[in-house]
Amino acid sequence: MRLFWHRRDLRVADNRGLAAAVEATDDDRAVVPVFVFDDDVLAHGAPPRIRFMLDALAELRADYRERGSDLVVARGDPAEVLPDLADEFDADAVVWNEDYSGLARKRDARVRMALDDAGVARETRHDAVHHEPGTITTNQGDPYAVFTYFWKKWRDREKADPFDAPAGGDLVAADAVAGESLPSIADLGFEEPAADVQAAGTEAARERLAAFCEDAVYRYDAARDYPAKEATSRLSTDLKWGTIGVREVYAATEEAMAEAEAMDDGGDEDDGPVASVEEFRSQLAWREFYTQVLWANPEVATENYKDYERDIEWRSDEAAMEHLAAWTEGKTGYPIVDAGMRQLREEAYMHNRVRMIVASFLTKDLLLDWRHGYEHFKQHLADHDTANDNGGWQWAASTGTDAQPYFRIFNPMTQGERYDPDAKYISEYIPELASVSPDNVHSWHELSVGRRRQLAPKYPDPIVDHSEMRERALSMFKRARGEE
Ligand code: FAD
Repeated sequence: MRLFWHRRDLRVADNRGLAAAVEATDDDRAVVPVFVFDDDVLAHGAPPRIRFMLDALAELRADYRERGSDLVVARGDPAEVLPDLADEFDADAVVWNEDYSGLARKRDARVRMALDDAGVARETRHDAVHHEPGTITTNQGDPYAVFTYFWKKWRDREKADPFDAPAGGDLVAADAVAGESLPSIADLGFEEPAADVQAAGTEAARERLAAFCEDAVYRYDAARDYPAKEATSRLSTDLKWGTIGVREVYAATEEAMAEAEAMDDGGDEDDGPVASVEEFRSQLAWREFYTQVLWANPEVATENYKDYERDIEWRSDEAAMEHLAAWTEGKTGYPIVDAGMRQLREEAYMHNRVRMIVASFLTKDLLLDWRHGYEHFKQHLADHDTANDNGGWQWAASTGTDAQPYFRIFNPMTQGERYDPDAKYISEYIPELASVSPDNVHSWHELSVGRRRQLAPKYPDPIVDHSEMRERALSMFKRARGEE
């Protein structure tokens, strides 16, 4: 018997560790799938993610039951629960897929020791990424800190094919498992999320992938920055929880690439179908880039990556905290920023371009520490992932690897005008502005107070002046760098 411990890989298909657990034995019904609710991990949870996780687990259990097996669920410290379960099922090994964050690695080290003490073997596989941290390095063998170089190697390296789900006969029989019910969200100490979280599970993830590959993937390059267009895959929460495997997603891009090449027909469009499929792959590579950044530098979860930025004097007085509250509530008086912050609360998701805009606004217009923003995202995003969230925040704050240079500061009004010209996205999330013309929405900061009251009496005035704050931000960074 072998236990397979599910963590951030809530699926049966294209699961390297699960396939390895099955392959390692010729015995029938030899693999026992397990999920452990770990209070240390739950302490970092938030309602949207716990909702998604529980729904994904319900589907995972249903998948096992269809195969005549079942998912064993337990609650507690995995370093205690897993040796006990190994004993209960007379299992001689536990198999799992690697997780690369600092917290997970510490927990896994404890689990390894506990299993060693209990005389139970353990094996791990790399599953969550195509190329595990430490395998794409500079010529000196160091992890990459610049994406472009990482991407070139990532792109050119061969990718594995997806794996099939194991056959029912390889999995423990359902009647050998207690079949305890899954806890409710309240049992885990969380409230139902206020946001409308997207459907969880492999089936929903496959539907999203198929829908994206039908059309949007071929115009991704030109459309992905426009939040009002349905132009991105919406797979981030699936990839975070592993309800779909990375090999399955990549295989879909191979089919799309073949189609795209036929469509391109020798054309040389920069943002045509071939470039679009390639651009989508590069986003998948960003995910793996940040995974290896966090793996190589676990401290970036809480610290600036760049040493010389460590002395930034972020604002922290009472007025700054009031501005933070206005930002979290979507009441800054900068329409594109507020629309994004409201999308986050309503959908536990925000479009990537808008994430960049709101993060730039927090750090460069309000001069607030990125960690405030990161914490807020952690509370509200269903796709929150330490590596990507941290990477995104430190990029916007100019404190991270391959970050936005500190002197390139987004103007929130021109960003709104460029990427939401008809103010369609803005009016979807800010009903107060729905009847205001796009011209007036995009020049909200320039209108007189009287005109603003007339147009949208309930929508706030800008809480800061962008030009003034831009100058302050430049000085703040120059001081931290010892240049002023
Ligand atoms: P698509 O455009 O369809 O991209 C496909 C996949 O590639 C995504 O699902 C994701 O897994 C990956 N990806 C895309 N862009 C990035 C990126 N810039 N960095 C890393 N991976 C990327 N992404 C998260 O998955 N979790 C987070 O917690 C997160 N926090 C972010 C915070 C900030 C401040 C910023 C600027 C970006 C953040 N991102 C995060 C990256 C990106 O915004 C989301 O991955 C993307 O918006 C998800 O939508 P999608 O699945 O439709 O993306």
